[in-house]
Amino acid sequence: LVSAYRLSVMSNASLSPLLKQATPVVVDHASGSWIHGTDGRDYLDFTTGIGVTSTGHCHPDVVAAAREQCGKIIHAQYTTVMHQPLLELTDKLGEFLPEGLDSVFYANSGSEAVESAVRLARMATGRPYIVTVQGGFHGRTVAAASLTTAGTKFSAGFGPLMSGVATTSFPHALRLGMTEDEAVDYALKEFDFLLATRVAPNELAAVLVEPFLGDGGYMAVPQRYLAGLRERTERHGALLVLDEVQAGCGRTGKFWGHQHTEGLRPDVLITAKGIASGFPISAMAASRDLMNKAWPGSQGGTYGGNAVAAAAGVATLGVIEREGLVENSRVRGEELLAGLRSELDGVSEICDIRGTGLMLGIEFGNPTANAGSEEAAEAARLAGAVQQACIDEDLLTLTCGPTGNVVRIIPPLVVTSEEVKTGTERFARAVRAVVG
Ligand code: PMP
Repeated sequence: LVSAYRLSVMSNASLSPLLKQATPVVVDHASGSWIHGTDGRDYLDFTTGIGVTSTGHCHPDVVAAAREQCGKIIHAQYTTVMHQPLLELTDKLGEFLPEGLDSVFYANSGSEAVESAVRLARMATGRPYIVTVQGGFHGRTVAAASLTTAGTKFSAGFGPLMSGVATTSFPHALRLGMTEDEAVDYALKEFDFLLATRVAPNELAAVLVEPFLGDGGYMAVPQRYLAGLRERTERHGALLVLDEVQAGCGRTGKFWGHQHTEGLRPDVLITAKGIASGFPISAMAASRDLMNKAWPGSQGGTYGGNAVAAAAGVATLGVIEREGLVENSRVRGEELLAGLRSELDGVSEICDIRGTGLMLGIEFGNPTANAGSEEAAEAARLAGAVQQACIDEDLLTLTCGPTGNVVRIIPPLVVTSEEVKTGTERFARAVRAVVG
């Protein structure tokens, strides 16, 4: 009876076809780096719910904190009554936030926090324009989708999108066929050109950028480019908003992705995903001075800063600290990168194997191919086939990149050396099954 029920859930025709499933797996339960399917198989999870369950599935400390909070209050509604977990989370998060970002606003999702940052930037500067960087992913709500250039699939067909957005070039050395230095010079020049041709500097509210491209291709944003954007925003009286939704909370082997760029200080930082091990909560941090430039009540929401999610967030940050997960991310990430490079050495269909911490991308095809070409479509087919072949190896991965030609590997930060080895071997077998 139980298996008949599970089967009916799996094939439930009433679930919207708007959801595109990356795998056919239905979870029975999960623990640490593993998802146990209703099909009886044990999958090594190198997706972590798209970079969310960093402490591993169902970490006992997170489960205990959420359980305990459920018995106290589940929904306090932060504009009606404040609750203890959110005060605690704000204190705890404050230990990790960059200096000067001493004020935190909470929402539910990354998209909402991105929209919050847009509101704040426009209200605080009195300027309309947000400049985004090509390849950036910032969310699915209409405003967040307006800021997203990680692929037309995130915005095609439901426009018109929000106005007051312009996109500047990404220093994509591989795609441009340049050295990184040349690409950075080129992209910074393009940014200055944009300010001369489209967005007057005194109309620029903010530049919004991920320190590591997530859905746009799992790729580090060159540090000199980020520093160049910082210098220019400061010069023009605009804000630098860093979207750390995917790269933050230890993912790249430092607590924040932008900490790889020495001395870089954002005006606004957005975080979500890894902050609460899977409970929906997001945060936008800025200085109190900046927040004071918008009026009280200009932001809010029914569920934002939920008490159970906040308690899970406090527990998550505690686990990250106590278990040394940022360091584990760095060390296991180096092992994984070295292992993948050595296993896949000589596979001509792969043009790049890259990674910082536990944010790794394997790019297929010719990176200089025209995005609309058959060659680019073939590279995307290859990446998709490898991701599917991984499932046959009981390994879960995802694809990304504007044309879909990158397989991304996102293990939990608790991943062990042995699991890294297992994952590397499974991934290599999947690649060989596809390319022969
Ligand atoms: N920003 C970045 C960098 C993201 O990776 C994502 C989600 N993939 C978002 C924003 C949107 O977050 P959410 O899906 O929680 O709205």
